[in-house]
Amino acid sequence: VVFHRDWAERLEVVRERATGAVTRAGDLLAADRVVLAAGSLSGRLAGVPEDVLPPVRPVKGQVLRLTVPAAYAPFLSRTVRAVVRGGHLYLVPRENGELVVGATSEELGWDTTVTAGGVYELLRDAHELVPGITELPLTETRAGLRPGSPDNAPLLGPTRLDGLLLATGHHRNGVLLTPVTGDVMAELLTGGELPEAVRPFTPKRFGPVPGALLEQTA
Ligand SMILES: Cc1cc2nc3c(=O)[nH]c(=O)nc-3n(C[C@H](O)[C@H](O)[C@H](O)COP(=O)(O)OP(=O)(O)OC[C@H]3O[C@@H](n4cnc5c(N)ncnc54)[C@H](O)[C@@H]3O)c2cc1C
Repeated sequence: VVFHRDWAERLEVVRERATGAVTRAGDLLAADRVVLAAGSLSGRLAGVPEDVLPPVRPVKGQVLRLTVPAAYAPFLSRTVRAVVRGGHLYLVPRENGELVVGATSEELGWDTTVTAGGVYELLRDAHELVPGITELPLTETRAGLRPGSPDNAPLLGPTRLDGLLLATGHHRNGVLLTPVTGDVMAELLTGGELPEAVRPFTPKRFGPVPGALLEQTA
């Protein structure tokens, strides 16, 4: 495999078939098949015909990192997952002494602002589970965008455009689902059928992207 670490400016389509990608520098990377796996930006690649654009929207998530001082260790020895006030919360202790608290889920388009309200809610709910948490130094706050599909399940496999496949839409579970996504896409690209387990996630389960969603992702 040759890796080209570059930005895809647009999909190259010739006679209703995806034939590669054009990089920011204007170079064409020709390919028999193209896998579009651009996360929350998957619905924004130029050149993809409108009726084939993946129906992916950005779902904002805020996450915190705290540090457990040596004097407090061991603070938590395993991951804690909970539902607090109807929201999902997790506390993940890392080997390097960090404690990750996540994550909010917000439908705010492309906004990646870390807000006082987001930090407050995470700390409030985490405090309810583990009161001692408010004694820890807060070392990082961050917001990212998850790729969400209309049913929040992944989009895996061929699209209605010949040569174009999707591997996106993993929403809250993209890290967890990385190995299985890699496996099924490799199986598909090396000539096999789409494995049974991923058939429910075919991009073809959705019709063309509704105009409203296109506007939201514009
Ligand atoms: C706060 C937060 C907490 C989360 N916690 C978890 C968790 O605990 N467990 C879990 O499983 N998942 C979690 N997720 C979700 C997970 O991060 C996503 O599902 C996952 O990152 C999606 O992977 P992806 O590769 O499809 O997209 P991304 O990770 O978004 O990667 C897409 C990449 O494509 C690049 N790209 C986009 N357009 C182009 C282009 N035109 N050319 C070249 N490159 C391009 C982007 O720069 C980016 O690097 C969390 C997400 C957030 C925001």
